[in-house]
Amino acid sequence: MKKNYLLAPGPTPVPERALLAMAAPVIHHRTPQFSAIFKETAELLRYVFQTKGDVLMLSASGTGAMEGSIVNLFSPGDEVIVINGGKFGERWGQISEKYGLKVHWIKVEWGDAVDPATVAKLMGENPNVKGILCQASETSTTVQHPVEELAKLTKDKDCLLIVDGITAVGVADMPMDKWGIDVLVSGSQKALMLPPGLAFAALSDKAWKFNETSTCPRYYFDFAKERKNLHKDTSAYTPAVGLITGLRESLLMIKEEGLENTFKRHDRLARAARAAMTALGLKLLAPENPSFATTGVYVPEGVDGAKFVKYMRDTMGVTMAGGQDHLKGKIFRIAHLGYVATFDMIIAVAAIEMGLTKCGHTLEVGKGVAAAELILMEGYE
Ligand SMILES: *Cc1c(COP(=O)(O)O)cnc(C)c1O
Repeated sequence: MKKNYLLAPGPTPVPERALLAMAAPVIHHRTPQFSAIFKETAELLRYVFQTKGDVLMLSASGTGAMEGSIVNLFSPGDEVIVINGGKFGERWGQISEKYGLKVHWIKVEWGDAVDPATVAKLMGENPNVKGILCQASETSTTVQHPVEELAKLTKDKDCLLIVDGITAVGVADMPMDKWGIDVLVSGSQKALMLPPGLAFAALSDKAWKFNETSTCPRYYFDFAKERKNLHKDTSAYTPAVGLITGLRESLLMIKEEGLENTFKRHDRLARAARAAMTALGLKLLAPENPSFATTGVYVPEGVDGAKFVKYMRDTMGVTMAGGQDHLKGKIFRIAHLGYVATFDMIIAVAAIEMGLTKCGHTLEVGKGVAAAELILMEGYE
């Protein structure tokens, strides 16, 4: 028998509580029964996004909320700065260019975080820039960008800070209102512990002002229309009834744990992952500004990275992600976001130790697990 473990940075494991809620018969969406679920879920989203404003629920994968943010806030010809430090940063720029925006790219080495001074300088040279687009956690390179610092740059300017928080919301402290983030985007299949299919976008008052004058073409992702419907406890088009029913449960789980504790858990799991890998003599991809959501590790010399990830998945039943683009076969990524707790990390580290050994690398079996345990024990009184 083989038991499977999903430890990839999306999709992530779904808790039994959410699965059971989603197993209930589908109810009609234009009913007081569903509106009650919708309303409660919208309120819970405000808590998790740390905003007093509205959080829109869209039926799409996370990229839908990214595209929606561009088309609802800008017009062709508008200038934006894109922080491109990985696959998802690149995506912000690609969407922007598709809609005729003028992109000022900031290329960041994969594994590094952006320097806010670079952004400030580019803003100074291009006073017409209307938006800064970045990731909070760049999942492809396992880096955390300095969102709080970036928010200071846009705060009192006619410029929006748009943050892809797809592996940051519900992982790391990202107080949207307090920091002055203008748009915070997320998706269901990461820290929100659901199957893929829902995307979220929260907008500041300043962002809603931009929405009034934006002329990019849009139909399905019409944020003003969605907001109008949200205020009536419904959505513009048929919502993903099952997913939203599950979402209420997963958000309640976050609320019951308490956001503060949720962030602490993710930080602890991330530190355990880094300590374990370091103890095994492996090199981290982002030692300086590591993401709370996922840890990137270089595959040791002499091991075929693609084969190693495949071996763990197909032979051992432990799914982790490899690298993308030029990091393909060179790194693997341990995910520790969402419905992941202490003993899932033991599984992850043990699988890496065994998998690497089976792939011909010499290491001291158990050394990584021991290092992880010492940190994971902090989670208990
Ligand atoms: C997963 C992810 C996305 C893309 O989301 P999809 O759901 O695949 O559209 C975007 N940004 C980041 C940082 C992600 O981790």
